[in-house]
Amino acid sequence: MKINKNFLKLGENYLFLIISEKVKRFKEKFPKKDIISLGIGDVTLPVCEAAVSAGLKAIEEMASAETFKGYGPNNGYLFLREKICKSYSERGVNISVDEVFISDGSKSDIGNISDIFSNENVCLIPDPTYPVYVDSNIMAGREITYCNAEERNEFLPTPIPEYEKSDLIYICSPNNPTGAAYSHEQLKSWVDFALSRNSVILFDSAYEAFVSNDVPHSIFEIEGARKCAIEFRSFSKTAGFTGMRCAYTIISKELEYDDVKINELWSRRQSTKFNGVPYVIQRAAEATLSAEGKTQIKKNIDYYRKNAEIIMQKLRHAKVKFFGGINSPYIWMKCPESMKSWKFFDFILEDAGVIGIPGSGFGKNGENFFRLACFGNHERTEEAIERLCRSILKKL
Ligand code: PLP
Repeated sequence: MKINKNFLKLGENYLFLIISEKVKRFKEKFPKKDIISLGIGDVTLPVCEAAVSAGLKAIEEMASAETFKGYGPNNGYLFLREKICKSYSERGVNISVDEVFISDGSKSDIGNISDIFSNENVCLIPDPTYPVYVDSNIMAGREITYCNAEERNEFLPTPIPEYEKSDLIYICSPNNPTGAAYSHEQLKSWVDFALSRNSVILFDSAYEAFVSNDVPHSIFEIEGARKCAIEFRSFSKTAGFTGMRCAYTIISKELEYDDVKINELWSRRQSTKFNGVPYVIQRAAEATLSAEGKTQIKKNIDYYRKNAEIIMQKLRHAKVKFFGGINSPYIWMKCPESMKSWKFFDFILEDAGVIGIPGSGFGKNGENFFRLACFGNHERTEEAIERLCRSILKKL
């Protein structure tokens, strides 16, 4: 018996473990200290009313033989796929229902997509990054090249000849952790690059609902993307579904490698290895795309956006450099005086009682940066950022 030894090459999932250990020790030492977290990347507002009532109605359908549902269609119910296509067409993008695959999360799809591509491919992953891109490719034993997202390119790297060998290109826009979002021109340069090298772009737009200026919401807004890209979207951050679990992946029927249609390959993979998303959840997700649901989820996104504004305003006032926050729930602040991320974490926890995420936890280029999230309530967010800025100003 042999195991997949690639799993032994994975780094430990240290980041959140170390943070919770440090916070635990701090609480034991100072039990009375009020601690506020600006670190958590999970939503806090409840699921909107439209989704809850659609979900309740759907569960009631299960109680009667006439409306009961058993196994659902492999790639998701048509009612949800149609609504998703409609939401794309409202932004001028044509997607057909058989190009939409409903799933239980973008994390699953981004991790699993690896199955349908050869392990001989080389991947190109931004540094810093959402860790799933790296870990899923380590598990597959693939070679990884990193592309540097740095302050000098505003955390938005574009193609250069050094990336010549890349087959699977991971792009996350708006980005976790940096909050940076690609413009049309920048994304076009990636699409052209992928087309010229016969590569595939794996485009993660989990945070597209936070786009507030004219940057693209979808890679399919870029000409040529249907022939070289797969898009991953989720109801998690868009509609507060992190506990409900529903997402979707778009694979155009024009996408082909080795003379094989990728859409069909993924459908084949899913029909064997994935059970689908519960009917009740798909009905709830559908409701978030109704006129009423859209208004309700926008209210929640606006609430988080207001937190981002509060944080950005205070950081500007304290003359702290930062990225993100405009099209994203994340603010990527530069640690003062080139302080290392973990040193800043300790300093701000001890001095201000505030928790954030050390940038170095997302890759080497995250060193000297710190991720703040906007998913808390206004009062506590304001209190936290005031304390954080006060500590920084005291230190300088
Ligand atoms: N992609 C990015 C960049 C994320 O930050 C997350 C979740 O935090 C996901 C994907 C996963 O989303 P889901 O909840 O749909 O699995």
